[in-house]
Amino acid sequence: MARLNTKVCVVTGAGRGIGAAIAEAFVREGATVVVTDKDEAAARAVATRIGCETRQLDVASEADWSAQEQAWPQIDVLVNNAGVTGFEDSMAPQDPERASLEDWRSVHRINLDGTFLGCRYGIRAMRGRGAGSIINISSRSGMIGVPAAAAYASSKAAIRNHTKTVALHCAQEGLAIRCNSIHPAAILTPMWEPMLGDGPDREDRMAALVADTPMRRFGTTEEVASLAVLLASDEAAYMTGTELTIDGGLLAGSAASPTRD
Ligand code: NAD
Repeated sequence: MARLNTKVCVVTGAGRGIGAAIAEAFVREGATVVVTDKDEAAARAVATRIGCETRQLDVASEADWSAQEQAWPQIDVLVNNAGVTGFEDSMAPQDPERASLEDWRSVHRINLDGTFLGCRYGIRAMRGRGAGSIINISSRSGMIGVPAAAAYASSKAAIRNHTKTVALHCAQEGLAIRCNSIHPAAILTPMWEPMLGDGPDREDRMAALVADTPMRRFGTTEEVASLAVLLASDEAAYMTGTELTIDGGLLAGSAASPTRD
């Protein structure tokens, strides 16, 4: 039996990568899905391919969330997936010493403000039925320091914490609205393109990026989508305020690195 039958699900940043895979998995599980993205053409292409609704939604825009609330006042599942590293348009340094205030704010505006606005919309849109699931896509970077991507790490850590605040708030209000975070690491999506490039050393760069990962490979978007299906479904009815890592063993500890021989 499909695990998300009758559920109305909204996924942000679903024009590609992890968000698109989550939307596709939700459709496969019988959900009515709304694919949203800042990039309207990308969202429409995914929606056409997997057979679902689409809306243009910039998560950092309060006006876009208001329009979303008008269009979909009642939902069951919200995935706050949209996120940026800060390296999309420029490889300018993002370490604590050299990052510009403008870049710092720009990453937080999308990752953190976007998740705050999404959670606020999600709670309001789930109150009618008194139940639902909000899934925030944080990162491994929200659990450790990342010298080269300070704003990204800070914003993802704040998402991790806000998830627990939302979970407690909903429980205190007597609502069965659950809120949990997923913490992926090294999932192969277009997000990695600025780091990989398309030069002859692309394969070497890929290998270098997962050299510290005990499982020594990138994760797939489908593997992250499987976790989102679990959290969206009624199978996870007693899970709230929790964090699920999906990282090939990276956070298990440095001693977990296998020896090669
Ligand atoms: P991606 O760059 O492939 O896709 C991100 C999508 O978000 C794009 O479609 C983009 O148009 C959209 N987007 C960007 N800004 C937006 C905005 N303001 N409003 C709405 N949509 C916007 O990224 P991905 O790898 O699929 O990552 C998805 C989420 O997973 C992000 O939150 C990311 O931080 C997180 N994550 C990814 C990895 C990884 O290794 N890929 C690891 C940890 C966490």
